[in-house]
Amino acid sequence: HRCTGIGKCRADNTGTGGVMCPSFLATREEKDSTRGRARVLQEMLNGHLVAESWQSPEVHEALDLCLSCKGCLSDCPTGVDMATLKSEVLHQTYRGRRRPASHYGLGRLPQWAAIASRAPSAVNALVRAPGVAPLGLTVAGLDRRRRVPRFAPRTFRKWFADTLSQRSRTGDPVLLFVDTFTEYFTPEIGVAAVRVLEAAGHSVHLTDEPRCCGLTWITTGQLDQARKIVGRTVAELFRSGMPIVGLEPSCTAVLRSDAVELLGSAPARLVADSTTTLAELLADWEPPSLDGTRIVAQPHCHHHAVMGWGADAALLRRAGADVQRLAGCCGLAGNFGVERGHYDVSVAVAQTQLLPAVEAASDDAVILADGYSCRTQLSDLTTRRGTHLAELLASRLP
Ligand code: SF4
Ligand code: SF4
Repeated sequence: HRCTGIGKCRADNTGTGGVMCPSFLATREEKDSTRGRARVLQEMLNGHLVAESWQSPEVHEALDLCLSCKGCLSDCPTGVDMATLKSEVLHQTYRGRRRPASHYGLGRLPQWAAIASRAPSAVNALVRAPGVAPLGLTVAGLDRRRRVPRFAPRTFRKWFADTLSQRSRTGDPVLLFVDTFTEYFTPEIGVAAVRVLEAAGHSVHLTDEPRCCGLTWITTGQLDQARKIVGRTVAELFRSGMPIVGLEPSCTAVLRSDAVELLGSAPARLVADSTTTLAELLADWEPPSLDGTRIVAQPHCHHHAVMGWGADAALLRRAGADVQRLAGCCGLAGNFGVERGHYDVSVAVAQTQLLPAVEAASDDAVILADGYSCRTQLSDLTTRRGTHLAELLASRLP
């Protein structure tokens, strides 16, 4: 009922740095705009045009193409937060019921990744055997045109433990929150972040146990489990008493926002206040020179909506980079673009801004993309590779 109907969610956001509303920009259907979704939910709640039930097909049809990008959370003048509403609808709809296959597959990705990481080479070989990946994707409710990511041969935490004795333990302590994507798929980003943080005078610490923010449970509406998972994480982060830095924007956004909403506790609020992005933590640091470096930046939607991208823009400006900031969403948005039935809209969303900008970018331009989703979309749909801010800064350190 916050929606006043003025329709900013139907406006073109090119050049604004805004995100809302990628699904409407892709389909141009009112039901795929934030306003259309808000209206259908209003109708469900008052029971006039839509049956008063979480299972109403109109509700699910309207929410199906919502990417949970949180664009409306920051860009809608009245703060309609459709990502949270979608989580709640999925939570209420499937409570005690059988869920869509993707909720068990992608919705529990951190658990599957932890198991697979015990034998990464064998898992990588298995999923690349003829016919296995398409079958696996189909069973998990995912689109067969997507690729199964490779597991890193060594997890980030294992690298950290193996190299601990080589690193200085002096400096301002900071706790690096190790998300699932950095841990199992792209540990090189964590390695780069440790180099940058140490160059900036920090000593880097990790949680005693691998911890998860519960993001994939939240977006698939498995809120009881999400609350337990993020509750354990918040408890350990709170005990550490250290400032926390996150690398994956959506996981950092959970610690900054969703965790507080889910738990409503004082420790969750304190952890939110202590959590920063890499650029926020390095606000007073003199970065290595990026003079003459052309950057096409795709801020992750949750980064834009929850933390804001101002600290990143300022850091890149201090470094002397020439930055073109894109608006809009990459179209993958976590589980959205991978789920069966969403591929075409996912590509259409990417075509609104990301793909034309990447196509027009010079060969020497860096495509800056901190989000694992954004980098996956780039590698699935283009020949370019996305670079994380930590990798870019580490590559320019003396
Ligand atoms: S969802 Fe927000 S931007 Fe869209 S019509 Fe409603 S109030 Fe306006
Ligand atoms: S979360 Fe994103 S896709 Fe969903 S309604 Fe809001 S802006 Fe649109």
